[in-house]
Amino acid sequence: MKLSETKHRATLVLAVKGRIDTETAKEFGDELLARIKTQGIDKVVLDFSGVDFISSACLRELMINFKHAREAKVALLVAAMQPMVLEIFQLSRFDTIMPCLATIEQALKTQVALQSTPAKGARDTNSVVVHFWGTRGSLPAPLTLQQLRNKLASALVAGAGMNLDTIERANSFVESLPFHIGGTYGGNSSCVELSAHDNNVVLLDLGSGARLAGQDALRRLAGRSGEFHIFMSHLHWDHIMGFPFFTPAYIPGQRIRIYGCHDQLENAFRRQQAEPSFPVDLSKMASHIEFVHLELGRSYHIAGYQVSTKLQQHHGDSYGYRFEKNGKCVVYSTDAEYKPENMINIQECVELFQDADLVIFDAMYSLADSVSVKEDWGHSSNIMGVELCQQAHAKRLALVHHEPANDDAAIGRSYHDALRLEELTRQGERLEIYSAYDGLEIQL
Ligand SMILES: [Zn+2]
Ligand SMILES: [Zn+2]
Repeated sequence: MKLSETKHRATLVLAVKGRIDTETAKEFGDELLARIKTQGIDKVVLDFSGVDFISSACLRELMINFKHAREAKVALLVAAMQPMVLEIFQLSRFDTIMPCLATIEQALKTQVALQSTPAKGARDTNSVVVHFWGTRGSLPAPLTLQQLRNKLASALVAGAGMNLDTIERANSFVESLPFHIGGTYGGNSSCVELSAHDNNVVLLDLGSGARLAGQDALRRLAGRSGEFHIFMSHLHWDHIMGFPFFTPAYIPGQRIRIYGCHDQLENAFRRQQAEPSFPVDLSKMASHIEFVHLELGRSYHIAGYQVSTKLQQHHGDSYGYRFEKNGKCVVYSTDAEYKPENMINIQECVELFQDADLVIFDAMYSLADSVSVKEDWGHSSNIMGVELCQQAHAKRLALVHHEPANDDAAIGRSYHDALRLEELTRQGERLEIYSAYDGLEIQL
């Protein structure tokens, strides 16, 4: 690999020749960083016309330096790639992150808006933000010591020989690792939050993820009283177990409305906190708690959302919700079994999902399990999620209610299977798929 540079006022063009692979990527990255940090430079153009091969090590260095450049308010662009190099760049989706121009002239003319990452909380008020607080099905499933050690060991092997002597470098490296090594889906049971205006807080289900959701809402309210609107899919234990640890419920002045279609709605919550199951009876919680029964088939206007419900197939019934606001639509359909041969059920589901911007879908099992050993267990699969969303022309699909027996690698495999199926069966628009993890936020 050979480097040469030319300067055009505040723009520096760095021409690279040869291969950027495991052997040369580090040197390339260090040289690039030095250029980004050069005084008086506000743009660096990488002339890749002489590069005949790039490996993932090169892409990693580009990613790390792209972040450095953004922090230093320096525009970083790549230009004049050879066809094979360009294809690798595009396959890795780097063209969606970093400006990539056909010629050096174009790169020199291109103005890049150097936006810093928006501050947390600073959002487009018309958008709907979906935050996943708990994505695990049936039972909370914390990471085990052995799983944690396996992740650390894999990360150390992946980073062997790399210069990771600062927290910033180590963090960038960790971010570049595959999610099942550098991340985790998390272990909290079902709880999802939809953004709301003023002092309103909208939550879907109260699994163990509700503990963190409650704390975060109180932090945002900063001492003010909040209106909590909580929609229950159903009353199975994994969906209500977070309520005894939902701090807002203990604070006088907070108003909590729990909505649901089940006749047993209030009873299920009272029973959970009655002796001998829990030391604090629900009647001793100091907030104002109300249970609101929703009628199936009716549409409601709550906390700025148009809300409608649909009965779903699950033990003791569950209800799917459709939330609409400012032309955006989120569907919450967890703990629901969709049998491929039950056409009426499929048709109803497609109506619920129709043109949704995001469908949050119970993908607990593989399709094979859900139609054999786990038939009638009340859950669905990644495959059904993709098919139903395609039929309903939904834009995004978030897989949730992950099987507690599955580790991060297994959930990752199920996610990649869904991505591949979508690719193979796509007709028209691409369905964007997420495998939701605790802490994931999707802005619509
Ligand atoms: Zn469940
Ligand atoms: Zn259930």
